[in-house]
This record gives sequence, C-alpha cells and structure tokens, in this order.
Amino acid sequence: MFSQFALHERLLKAVAELNFTEPTPVQLAAIPPALEGRDLRVTAQTGSGKTAAFLLPLLNRLLGDANSKQRTDVRSLILLPTRELAQQILKEVERFSQFTFIKSALVTGGEDFKEQAALLRRQPDLLIATPGRLMEHLNAGSLKLNGVEVLVLDEADRMLDLGFAEDIERITAECVNRQQTLLFSATGGGKVLREMIAKVLREPVHLKLNSVDQLSETTVQQIITADDPGHKERLVHWLLTNETYRKAIVFTNTRVQADRLYGHLVAADYKAFVLHGDKDQKDRKLAIDRLKQGGSKVLVATDVAARGLDIEGLDLVINFDMPRSGDEYVHRIGRTGRAGADGLAVSLICHNDWNLMSSIERYLKQRFERRVIKELKGSYQGPKNVKASGKAVGVKKKKTDKKDGAKKSAANKPAAAKRRSNAPKAAPSSLVSQDGMAPLKRKKPAAE
Ligand code: AMP
Repeated sequence: MFSQFALHERLLKAVAELNFTEPTPVQLAAIPPALEGRDLRVTAQTGSGKTAAFLLPLLNRLLGDANSKQRTDVRSLILLPTRELAQQILKEVERFSQFTFIKSALVTGGEDFKEQAALLRRQPDLLIATPGRLMEHLNAGSLKLNGVEVLVLDEADRMLDLGFAEDIERITAECVNRQQTLLFSATGGGKVLREMIAKVLREPVHLKLNSVDQLSETTVQQIITADDPGHKERLVHWLLTNETYRKAIVFTNTRVQADRLYGHLVAADYKAFVLHGDKDQKDRKLAIDRLKQGGSKVLVATDVAARGLDIEGLDLVINFDMPRSGDEYVHRIGRTGRAGADGLAVSLICHNDWNLMSSIERYLKQRFERRVIKELKGSYQGPKNVKASGKAVGVKKKKTDKKDGAKKSAANKPAAAKRRSNAPKAAPSSLVSQDGMAPLKRKKPAAE
C-alpha cells in the first residue's frame, strides 16, 4: 500500500489514479530513506519501478515547502543519459504531478536550443536533462543550478559509459546548495562509478535491488545448446515462430551479429528492428515507437543500445550470445515478466558460451532449464565432463619440448585436433565480470 509512505495526499491520489496498488521492492526500500532526506545509491534496473522510487520523494519535497511559490530557480535536477529516457521520465513526472502545480522542463540534445532557453526562463521547479546539453545551457548562461535541492543521477553507469564523467562532475559542483543526491544505476558499475559515488554522495544508504530473486519469480529461464552461429539463427527463427509472446528482444554481443540476424529476420518476413551503437537517434526513435505501438514485435539489440528501454509487453528475451557478466544478464532478463507478468528468457549456448553460462548460473544461484528443440537438435549438447563449478573440464596440454610435442600431438590426436580447429573461436580471456563473480576466463575448448 502506498499510503504507508508519508507522501502528500496529492501524490497518493495520483498513485491511486495510476492503479499502482503495491509498491515494488525498490520503492519499498528507497522511498522511506529518501523521504528522510538521506542520500541513496541504488542498483536497480529499468522495469523495477525505480522511477517512482525517486520521483515520489522528490515531488513530495517540492510540494512540502511552504515557501516554494517564492522560489524562482530550478529546485531539482534529474540527470540521465539519453533523450529517450528523459522523455519517459517526463511522462512519469506528468502522471505523478497531475494534481499539483509543479512545473517541469526537459533539456536534451537534438531539440531547439533557443526554445529550451525560453522554457528555462519560465522557471521550472524540476528539470530533466542530459549532461551534454545541460552543460551548453550552463555555458550560455541560460540557467543557474544554485537553487537545486535534490539531484538525481539516473542510469549513472550508462552516463559514465557514454563519457559524461567530467560533465557530471562540473554539474554536481554547480549544485552548491543541494541537500540530497539520489544515484541509480542498473549495474554495480566499475571503478569510475565508485569514484563518482565517493565524490557526490554523503553517507549514502546503499540499496542493491538487481534482484536475482525477483527474476526467478516471474521469468522462466532456459538454455538451448547450439553448434554455431548459423544454428543459433535457426533457433531464433524457430522460437519467434513457435513461442507465444507479445514482444520479443534478441540480444547479441556485437553490432555485426545484430545486423546479420536482423537481415535474416527481415528476409524471413519478420517485422523486426535493429538497435546498436551505429544507429542514430532517428533510427532509435523509429524502432522504439514501432515496438511500442505494436507495428513490430521483434527488436534485435546490443546491450548498450537497449539500456533504459522501457517497453511494455516485452515477454520474450533471447540471448543470441550470453552476456558478459551476471549483472548484464540480470539487466537483460529483468525486462521480462514485469509487474508479475510471465516472461520467458532463452539463452543460446554454443561451445564457447558454456563456461560463461555456468558462471552466470552460479552468480544467480540457480540452474537454467535445459531445453531441446527436437527438429533443430544439434550435435553439441554441452560438455561431456563438467567440474563441480559446472564449467567444462578442459584438456590439459602436457608440457613437452615444442618440436617433439607438435609431432606427437599431431600423430596422437588427429581427430580431436581437427575438431578443435573447427570449433568456434573462444572470446578473449580478459573478460572479467563486473559483479564480483570470479573472472570469467574462457578455457580452451573442452574435448567433447
Ligand atoms: P521503471 O522501472 O521506473 O521504468 O518502471 C517500469 C514500469 O512499471 C513503468 O511503466 C511504471 O509506470 C510501472 N510501475 C512502477 N511502479 C509500479 C507499481 N508499484 N505498480 C504498478 N506499476 C508500476
């Protein structure tokens, strides 16, 4: 019940109007300390209800101040990585503030600068902005941030990925009178995020809601073994044809693979879209609009391109490639099964995905359901021998003198050597998880 929170009645009325009955775990954990004025560091993905978790306390503060009518400057700032996320947040702000007089404005790249400057002159209470464009306005003198009381850094990890570290530092320094900072990220982040947290947050409450438990409740997680990328493409095709779903997203680790798969799907008459780092804002908007309106049902995407997407009705996630860390897996799969709805996540596992998959199983403390599609059963069914960790038992090379060894191994194991040379190449061994899992070193392909 939202009435358990000490929120202004106008906000509770909006929440009721939106039919939000039960707070989500992130809302339960974040709203009380945020209402007390504490700084927060929250790890939660899109789809968890994180927006309301910071917006409700923020709007509550704006409503609670009796002197607010005399204020003329921006009182709260939400900084986020992309224009499209900014638009999503603005929509949420409008929904939650529908029974109030709180004025909000959007300042993002790709829109008319002068129009934005005019909006800023109308003295919004709440500003939603991307760092690059906000810096331009600061430099042009169209706004000051010394009235900002609450600063929200949403998808902080993604802002850093996009190279906004310096801008964020400068912007936070401009908010000289801020009383509260709320930082949200989808992943645990790396060193740069930790450094930023140390700089901008004061004794934060740390809430980790990248909830592994939440995942298992509503989403069925399966793996299907595959022989090679071509086999994976056939499996994707089969799943998209035979599964029941409203909307599906297929994740690949590379742009090239995303384009390739997209090409196949379009050739097979699927109404699909592709999103990756080479696509511009226009393509991105078109893809997202079509998917939201139902004109297309399938999106092929890389992780970075898909960050922050909130698409209702997404109930099938296919991992064409296994994501490189447990956090990224949670982030991908967290898009399905929202708000109690059922979701299905299928990961396609080739020989060189196996160890990564088993590391992720250990991280999640669960075993994915093994699934076989009879008509597309391949020859690879997982390693013959696995260690206690679930990883494949590799073939250890004997230490021999080089020349001698080369001769011997060629003579002794011609079939195995041939199989190995045909096996897909393993990814570089430098992949390290960002989430405290053991380093995800790839082993030499196991003998199968
Ligand atoms: P978010 O993680 O903030 O992007 O939220 C994902 C979606 O869940 C949005 O469409 C929200 O409107 C919706 N949502 C957030 N909190 C609740 C709730 N307590 N009950 C129902 N829907 C919610």
